[in-house]
Amino acid sequence: MKRLILTYNQSCNLNCKFCYIDFHHKKIEDKTISIVEQAIQLGFDIITFGGGDSFSKRDFREACKIAHQNHLFTHVDTNTLSINESDFKFIEENIDLLGVSIDAIGDYYNLFRDSHRLFQKLNHTLQQLEKYNIEIKVNTILTAQNINSIPDIFEYISTFKNIKRWSIYQFSPLSSAKKFEDIYKISDSDFEQTLKFVNTSNTDLIIEKNRYANRVDGYIFCDEEGNLYTNNINGKYLPLGSIFNEEDIKNVFSKNILINPKIKKRYT
Ligand code: SF4
Repeated sequence: MKRLILTYNQSCNLNCKFCYIDFHHKKIEDKTISIVEQAIQLGFDIITFGGGDSFSKRDFREACKIAHQNHLFTHVDTNTLSINESDFKFIEENIDLLGVSIDAIGDYYNLFRDSHRLFQKLNHTLQQLEKYNIEIKVNTILTAQNINSIPDIFEYISTFKNIKRWSIYQFSPLSSAKKFEDIYKISDSDFEQTLKFVNTSNTDLIIEKNRYANRVDGYIFCDEEGNLYTNNINGKYLPLGSIFNEEDIKNVFSKNILINPKIKKRYT
């Protein structure tokens, strides 16, 4: 099972301080469509379109459609800000798993992600998606700042029948998020203590608790220009060349780093 994670490292439509992507904001050529075509040729089975927000990127919809038509499992993460009314049908037809960020409820969520209309947009989007056959996963970053929000999030997401999975991530003080470690860091014991609530909740939701210390290596990332990289267990990112270069691809495959036993069966 081979999974490619396409990340938009150029920019995002939000500016979350706890985000660990170092957006470079340089002018680039977005090669998303060619990257997807290459991933199909190379036999990838899963493609994840990660942050920044895919829906804010010009070629994302076309690229996702091509991936889906060629039988890749399509997983797309979004903060929902750039989802339009015309996207609901698109999502139903082309996305196998939609990952939606929710870290708090109501105005507190807007404050948490520094956006005055985010929760209203999220709420509207989730209500509209209820009319479609779409599987949704909620992604929550748990930090010292939203530690009390877990019961509210649980109550809120339990009202949506499309939400099947809840992934809760301990704040990772990596890359650009390191600057704000003092504000957001949450200890292992506080993380576990806070999540005791979900152990006792009566629910059909699949709940994944992702401790920072238990993060795995072996993910294959590709930015929107085709540069490949992976992460090691210490959170360091290591360049692997280009998805368009035959030699680089041979190296990636020969190292067998595409098959991480902890992640290969996560969604399928
Ligand atoms: S956490 Fe997500 S929404 Fe926020 S800046 Fe990073 S990629 Fe964008």
